[in-house]
Amino acid sequence: MDTTTIARPSILDLSRDALVAALKEMGEPAFRARQLWKAIYSDLAVSFEEISTLPVPLRARLAERFDPFPLEPRVKLRSKDRLVDKLLFRLPDGELIETVLMKYGEFGPARARRTVCISTQAGCALGCTFCATGQQGFRRHLSEGEIVGQVMHVARLVRADRARESAKIEDARPDVTNVVFMGMGEPLANYSHTMAAVAKLNDPEGLNIGARHMTISTVGLVPGILKLADEPFQVNLAVSLHAPDDATRSETMPVNRRYPIADLMDAVKRYIVKTNRRVTFEYVLLHGQNDYPQQAEALAKLLRGVLCHVNLIPVNRTEASYERPDNGRIGTFRDILNQAGIAATVRFEKGTDIDAGCGQLRARIISAPQGAQVSPGKQVKNASGE
Ligand code: SAH
Ligand code: SF4
Repeated sequence: MDTTTIARPSILDLSRDALVAALKEMGEPAFRARQLWKAIYSDLAVSFEEISTLPVPLRARLAERFDPFPLEPRVKLRSKDRLVDKLLFRLPDGELIETVLMKYGEFGPARARRTVCISTQAGCALGCTFCATGQQGFRRHLSEGEIVGQVMHVARLVRADRARESAKIEDARPDVTNVVFMGMGEPLANYSHTMAAVAKLNDPEGLNIGARHMTISTVGLVPGILKLADEPFQVNLAVSLHAPDDATRSETMPVNRRYPIADLMDAVKRYIVKTNRRVTFEYVLLHGQNDYPQQAEALAKLLRGVLCHVNLIPVNRTEASYERPDNGRIGTFRDILNQAGIAATVRFEKGTDIDAGCGQLRARIISAPQGAQVSPGKQVKNASGE
């Protein structure tokens, strides 16, 4: 193992103020910090050596002191329809995390999106029974830089693709238009690093992703939701509900015993009063568990009068033996909600042919023998991080 890499702190873990302070300590004027910031977060430099706005000796001193980028891309899979890319990264301590890029309406109107789904923890402590990440347990929190780095890497890939295709497609959108905190882990359990990442992604001299184009998804940690209500950023909140009553919810989501539905709904309502923002409720449809018409009716009753939208997500297959309901049953569930005045749409998962669901690729790589072939045709080297 290369200990020099481990020893150097990641430059991506520095806030803007911390970057200015670090350069000051190195005897450099404040404008150098600004140049460096832009080179990292706007030009997306991968190494200090390539930052031509900085004097060569300073580039070398930075490289001695800091790790320029903490993520090592290990696997990249593209779905058959070419609209989803799934990436697996190795972190400096060998942990593996997943990131997904989803392209919507790539060849269509100006509203088309390039959404990156990012992880905030390696693993997750909350143990939802239908979730591949939850079944793997908690490893550790990701740092601010490890969270932001996922978006930066994808933005670089998109930029390279666009450079190749620019002759063909007119496209004035940013490289990454939206970020959803819906990968591995619970963002509100890693609160400070998640919010630092939001601030950094939002920086106009960096990736410049509008707060309204970012969504934080939570399993329903009540204190975190209340804290988020007081933040200055206008990020979107998505709440994983997945059941209309405590008995059903506790069966698949252990967190419900700590924060039952009444407490959760109370926090969400307070969030809405404070922010005046519409909340999304995610509802993973599990056949025979939470997809009965009576449960749709109970859900409609629970959400009546709440400024919200319901996202129905047919479950992605994992090791756990949950099945997705058939389309008729999904449609019935949605219609009951809509007829009761609750806006509900079905989000058909994209990229299921490449294990795009949270934690699924990592689970498969970890359990595969070294050098195993991962379809469609990518070689995994040292996937266990040894
Ligand atoms: N920990 C946060 C965010 C990460 S999970 C949360 O739970 O909200 C993001 C979303 O994916 C959650 O709504 C989660 O319930 C959902 N999810 C987990 N496993 C899934 C699966 N197998 N199929 C479909 N959605 C799943
Ligand atoms: Fe953790 Fe979210 Fe998976 Fe539940 S669904 S185990 S909270 S990542």
